[in-house]
Amino acid sequence: MSALNLSNKKLATKIIHAGAEPDPSTGAIMTPIFQTSTYVQAAPGVNKGFEYARSQNPTRKALEDALAVLENGKYGLSFSSGVAATDAVIKLLAPGDEVIAASDMYGGTYRLFTKVFEKFGIRFIYVDTTNVANIKSAITDNTKLIWIETPTNPLMNITDIAAVATLAKEAGALLCVDNTFASPYLQNPLNLGADIVMHSATKYLGGHSDVIQGALVMNDASLREQLYFIQKSCGAVPGPMDCFLVLRGIKTLHVRMKQHCENGEKVASYLRNNPKVGKVYWCGFNDHPNYDIAKKQMHGFGGMMSFTLKEDTVEAATKVLSATKIFSLAESLGGVESLINHPASMTHASIPRDERIKNGLSDGLIRLSVGIEDADDLIEDLKQAIG
Ligand SMILES: *Cc1c(COP(=O)(O)O)cnc(C)c1O
Repeated sequence: MSALNLSNKKLATKIIHAGAEPDPSTGAIMTPIFQTSTYVQAAPGVNKGFEYARSQNPTRKALEDALAVLENGKYGLSFSSGVAATDAVIKLLAPGDEVIAASDMYGGTYRLFTKVFEKFGIRFIYVDTTNVANIKSAITDNTKLIWIETPTNPLMNITDIAAVATLAKEAGALLCVDNTFASPYLQNPLNLGADIVMHSATKYLGGHSDVIQGALVMNDASLREQLYFIQKSCGAVPGPMDCFLVLRGIKTLHVRMKQHCENGEKVASYLRNNPKVGKVYWCGFNDHPNYDIAKKQMHGFGGMMSFTLKEDTVEAATKVLSATKIFSLAESLGGVESLINHPASMTHASIPRDERIKNGLSDGLIRLSVGIEDADDLIEDLKQAIG
């Protein structure tokens, strides 16, 4: 059997075969879980490309190669969590450097920036990135990185990646896009001019709520060298079992995402037509404020959405959050099973209340990660919970 060239293959074929080389020692079709800390060398400095497992591991390498293929990039790096991947990107910077970041983003990213990195002298300027002019006016000579998340968590705001990439290039700053919510199936930021794509692989890439992991993908060789240096020097690497789980999850990414999109559309329309529901945040509605951009840069709209009740209080939301039977009350997203979440007290509790309210994230907001169960059953479940 000769080596498979994936560059001229369609996405579904790439997803199944990316990074997967039969094991040279046995022919095993699945990359084995190389549960080892070190590798025996033939003579000092004579090795097979693997010396110590913090620096290299064959299971991790198979995954990193797969990640690169999925995001249409040259290099993938995987980390022990999504925030560890984010942490590595910020460690490219030095005191005095400025980061322009989205005001509406994952709470843990905000916490890492404000509570960990500010004290090292890195400045973070938060703007509403859905209006690209806000980014432009925040750029200074010290701007080294622009960090965006699109769609955002939990309000499903959309930022124009290509427009921000143009601004970043003009400013000589890097653009990193947190692509967790879209997954590489729905959106490929490198194709739109981003320098780095970040994923919480815990979510759609893993897809089964059984692993914590993060990823970065990039095209530039020197950026890859710097980030690889940080990966091995700081040591936030995933174990081989976790790499195996994400590799396995990736093989069904396209099939899962199609179903997430289909179910997402059905659940969003149901919510919108329920008189007890207030606002529904889902980027597939054609009256979503950035629908045109979403349509241009995404291949589908996914299964993430948020909504408020007409009676937008914590008490009313709590009743719904406690009444669903298929939707489990839990943090996280992107698994095959449906989850329901209360951002104000759960995923976004680390953002101060006035900051949250200012960004439009009300106390009563409910977030859904619509899974791939039967859509009618999901709607029935919400019906009995909302009343
Ligand atoms: C979960 C998440 C992260 C953090 O990833 P972990 O794997 O939990 O460390 C970052 N960004 C987004 C959008 C997320 O949903």
